[in-house]
Amino acid sequence: MFINVAQFNFIKQQAKKITQAKNTTNDGAVLKAVQEVVIADLAQKITMTEEELTLLLPIIDLKNQQEAEQFVNTLASYVKPFPVLTKATIKTLFKKEKKLAYPPLEQVDWQSCSFIAWDDVSTNRRYIVYEHGDLRGLRGVISKNHVKGVCSVCHQHGTVTQFTLAKKGNQVDQFTSRTNYICVDSDTCNEQISDLEHMLQFFAYIAQT
Ligand SMILES: [Zn+2]
Repeated sequence: MFINVAQFNFIKQQAKKITQAKNTTNDGAVLKAVQEVVIADLAQKITMTEEELTLLLPIIDLKNQQEAEQFVNTLASYVKPFPVLTKATIKTLFKKEKKLAYPPLEQVDWQSCSFIAWDDVSTNRRYIVYEHGDLRGLRGVISKNHVKGVCSVCHQHGTVTQFTLAKKGNQVDQFTSRTNYICVDSDTCNEQISDLEHMLQFFAYIAQT
């Protein structure tokens, strides 16, 4: 079995749901209902054989946060990490960029990323690399204003900022642009992504700008 980082995050969220239910109710029927929903959601989100599902089944008996962490750790080896990027790869993804900023590659935890993003603080540019069959790059500008709202990448509520992507149109001096709110902090965003398809749909949508 191989799961992507988003599915791994989804499993973590479900483990939390189970332990929270255990801590807040003694009603067996309520617990059973939560357990059934969790199993159904896992089966729906992650394509797996029955054998693979047995790896996940212990999730319904988790009693506390410690057990949840231990359980999640047993699945870590099944997670497919983000492809490790090199400066050369990044350069090919942003060919037109004259002064390309690079992320601190040695600090990236590839195991916990569904996309890689970094900012050039001198220009307010944010660079995003994601994998959609092949590796793709997006470059936009982020606003310095931070507000509370829903992120278009992870679909969670948090501290977000405007991300604007502009593209030259067919005619001279013609530009089209799209602005969306995304998490200020890309590490937090990655932690919160539990649906890779949602993320890819959003990136595909803004890439057409
Ligand atoms: Zn986000």
